[in-house]
Order: sequence, then structure tokens, then C-alpha cells
Amino acid sequence: MSLTVVGSLAYDAVKTPFGERERMLGGAATHFALAASFFDVVRPVGPVGEDFDEASFATLRTRGTVTDDVEVVAGGKTFFWSGVYSSNLNERETLDTQLNVFESFEPKLSQESQDADVLFLANIQPDLQLHVRRQCTKARFVAMDSMNLWIDIANESLKKVIGTVDCLILNDEELEQLTEKPTLQQAAREVLSWGPRAVVAKLGKYGAALFTGDDFFALPAYPLAEVIDPTGAGDTFAGGFVGYVAAHPDEEIDHQLLSRAMAYGTALASYNVEEFGTERVERLTSDEVQERVADLQRMTAFSVDPVALRA
Ligand code: AMP
Repeated sequence: MSLTVVGSLAYDAVKTPFGERERMLGGAATHFALAASFFDVVRPVGPVGEDFDEASFATLRTRGTVTDDVEVVAGGKTFFWSGVYSSNLNERETLDTQLNVFESFEPKLSQESQDADVLFLANIQPDLQLHVRRQCTKARFVAMDSMNLWIDIANESLKKVIGTVDCLILNDEELEQLTEKPTLQQAAREVLSWGPRAVVAKLGKYGAALFTGDDFFALPAYPLAEVIDPTGAGDTFAGGFVGYVAAHPDEEIDHQLLSRAMAYGTALASYNVEEFGTERVERLTSDEVQERVADLQRMTAFSVDPVALRA
């Protein structure tokens, strides 16, 4: 079993109302790998520059993640992203995106990465996602993320790759923008008609919703009194969600299994936002993950008392 992820490996500069970091390890594939490595051997695919230091590699290798397909580009500089959050963390403004080594990136997957049982296409240019998708012919579950930028400037390519995956994981607003539908229900059902058998709508601090066939499941975000930095929450969620699927190679990937996967994604994402960047998830333990999954189960289950209603 193994899980391949293609996406950004980055250095981020982030400012939130609770502090800032001028340069910290980030990137969608990094956050994903840190979470997914609780479930399976993860193989990130992506380029870094010569400035990507040993400490970053060591973090990436947490819980046995294999970095053989992380390409160090000679003379290159690692992808850099910088963003600032509003006072209630509801909005994020991107201040700078420097593609650097991503500008000329052509994903080359080792045989091991191509043979992955499960594949996650993190948010990168959709043509690159498709390129990787086509190389992983054995994957029994492929999920992907994207962002408003690609909906705007690479719409056709994005829809093409969506048609080749099993699950699309996207923010609610992006789903509505992508499909030009006025409600989340309509937007998710539209995407299901394009090919995927599941859609996960990320609802930020409100949690996430799952759509499969005619079924629906939703979980609130884990209740936290304090959030320090939401950067990477979506990718950490995806790491927990997709990782859970990877950890069940002999089970049918149905609504029930994906609902349980949602709980792991939600629990992992809740830890990610407690500190800056990868800081919290780097030292997270499996017991802590299980604790929050159990909490979520308790918090969201209720019994029905069939009270007589007045006509
Ligand atoms: P999230 O908060 O889940 O949207 O993920 C944030 C991470 O995505 C950061 O660590 C960034 O390095 C990375 N990121 C930001 N913009 C892009 C982009 N245009 N392409 C790829 N990765 C990005």
C-alpha cells in the first residue's frame, strides 16, 4: 500500500492576529503528507530549490514519508507563498506567490509512486494534475483539490481533470463558482454528474460536508476556543480523509467509509490550526488524533425521542 501526493512544497510567510512567521515550512503536499502519514506510507511528488533545508526534509519524512520523488532543482528556489489573515481569521489575502521551481515543473514519478493504491492531486495547475493522474493507472481512489485561480484561468483543464477522479475536495464558495450553481447542494450534484463519486465541500470553521450519490453527511469543525493559524487546514483535512481511505484497502469505498474518513480529516485539521504552519501536527500523536475522533462522535450523535407533535 502507498499513497502518492503531488502538490506544492513551500516556504510560507504568514501573519495572523496572533503572530507571524517570516519563513516556515508549508505547501499543500507538506501539510497533506504530515496528516496522511498517520495512515500509510506517503510519497510526495514535487520540486524544491536548493534552499530547501535538511530540517524541512526531516519534517517531511515524519512517520516514514518517502521523499525520493521530491526533486531538488539545481540553482532553483523553493515555491514561496505569503498571506495575511483578517482579525476574525475569516478572510485571507495572498500577498505574494513566487512559483520559482514550479514554473518549469514536469512531474516525473518513480515506479513506486506510479503504483500507488491511492492518489491525491493537491492544488496545482490542473494540467500537471492530469499529467500525474494519467501516470497512476493502478490507483483505486483518486482525490483532488483546486482553487479559485484555476477556476478563473484554467477552467477547461480543471473540468477535464475533475472528470478523471473519484472525489473532489473544494471550498463551498469555489464549488459554487466552478459550477455556477446557487446552492451547495446543486453545485455538488453537478460535480457528481461530471464523473466523481464523491464531493467534499470544505466549509472552513463550520466543518465539511460530503455528497455521494443521493447521500449527504456533514460534520462541524472540532470546537476550539483558540485558532492561531488556519494555513494548511484544508490540506491537513485532505490528508486525514484520503489517508483513512488508504488505510482500508480491502473495504468498499462507500458513503459509510467516507463519512468515517471525514471524522479523521476533521480531527487532524483541528490540530493543524492550533499553531503556525506544521508546528502542531509535527509533534501530534496517534492517541491525540483518536481522542478527537471519539469526541466528534460523541458530540454529533443524538437520540431521537419521538415526541407527539401538535397538529
Ligand atoms: P490551505 O490553507 O489549505 O489553502 O493551504 C495553504 C498552503 O498552500 C500553503 O502552505 C501554501 O504554501 C500553499 N499554496 C498557496 N497558494 C498556492 C498555489 N497557488 N499553488 C500551490 N500551493 C499554494
